[in-house]
Amino acid sequence: MTDLIDRDKRYVWHPFSQHATDGIPLPIVKGKGTLLYDADGNSYIDANSSWWVNVHGHGHPEIQRALSEQFAELDHVIFANVTHPQAVKLAERLSNRLPADLSKVFFSDNGSTATEVALKMSIQYWHNKGVKRDRLMAIEGAYHGDTFGAMSVGERDLFNRPFEPYFFDATYLPFPLPENEELVLSIAQKHFETNEYAALIVEPIVQGAAGMRKYSSRFLDELVRLAKQHEALVIFDEVMTGFGRTGTFFAMDQCLEKPDIVTLSKGLTAGVLPMGLTITTEHIFQAFLSERTERAFLHGHSYTGNPLACAVANASLDLFEQEETTNSIAQLIKWNEEAIQLIANETNVYSPRVIGTILAFEVNTDEKVGYFSGIRNRAYQYALERGVLMRPLGNTIFINPPYCITRDEYTQVIDVIIGFLRSLQE
Ligand SMILES: *Cc1c(COP(=O)(O)O)cnc(C)c1O
Repeated sequence: MTDLIDRDKRYVWHPFSQHATDGIPLPIVKGKGTLLYDADGNSYIDANSSWWVNVHGHGHPEIQRALSEQFAELDHVIFANVTHPQAVKLAERLSNRLPADLSKVFFSDNGSTATEVALKMSIQYWHNKGVKRDRLMAIEGAYHGDTFGAMSVGERDLFNRPFEPYFFDATYLPFPLPENEELVLSIAQKHFETNEYAALIVEPIVQGAAGMRKYSSRFLDELVRLAKQHEALVIFDEVMTGFGRTGTFFAMDQCLEKPDIVTLSKGLTAGVLPMGLTITTEHIFQAFLSERTERAFLHGHSYTGNPLACAVANASLDLFEQEETTNSIAQLIKWNEEAIQLIANETNVYSPRVIGTILAFEVNTDEKVGYFSGIRNRAYQYALERGVLMRPLGNTIFINPPYCITRDEYTQVIDVIIGFLRSLQE
């Protein structure tokens, strides 16, 4: 184990990590169900679904079968002017799950590229129509990925300060707290009335990286209505919320108004292979058809439409069609609702909340709050020593485990969280 860590230290640069101060990485060699194992055989409950992606647990036999069967047939092929059964099947199935209008599926590699594609599509849509609409609107605290376009419509903070001079300008609406929804809508209306907006991009119902911040679906409906009245396109970033995370299959299932473009990734491939999707309407697609090549959407990635990733995504959809998965999700929501009561009883907790399969709350602390709060490292370390892997966002502690988590595993996670909260008061 020390050999692996030594070699890691020598050769590997980890994401979102400050190597000068972060501890040694956890060396994981095996995953099964909700559990991850290190080389010494210690197990850890994967309470954040391996960065929010795993939905059916690790090493699922159905996923494994789909992957090896597909590998035997076709591993990868160029996707420009070439098609294959798994991509078509996936596109067909997802558009059947989405509102009827959302029927054109564009493949890419991850959540950030899905955002880039959505932004580029929106901008080029207006360009192709010969209409000058070049501004984008987002919500304060947003996270849409780490590429330049995605950063440009995300929260401007310490994370991306060095790059800020290179961002394009975007308009940020204040976060819609219950008490300022009307104000936010009136600000949005004033902006939309300029007719300068190409698109509005939002994480529907809950902002993930901002700290699992929930807002009302009724507000979102109003905002989408305003955008549509003023002809701005609406992008829902369902990279985090898709595939059952908020209790419904998509977060938009809780909304009356529907987007023109939706992005998917994370849970899409059950947390097994990287893939992103940007799904839009026939109407938007039509604006790219022309005798002229430059009207086309000239964007693509080497691994676009990778058959293995598509096969895994299809196998994951098969699992979602099983009653067992629906029951697991319903059960996890119920456990969350019970557990949040216990957690809310602790004196150093505020804003306890359940958003479907996500349980979240803030720790009241004298220390700095927000992402750079020291609570994050202490909670991470405390949980890890007790066999639970979670990754708090600053003083926001949350869990979003695979749906197959067992009652015993779930109870252990909650016991560890409560133990941590009490340890702070000693
Ligand atoms: C994680 C995330 C992204 C970025 O996805 P990556 O696959 O990490 O690039 C975009 N939007 C939301 C809402 C996310 O949670």
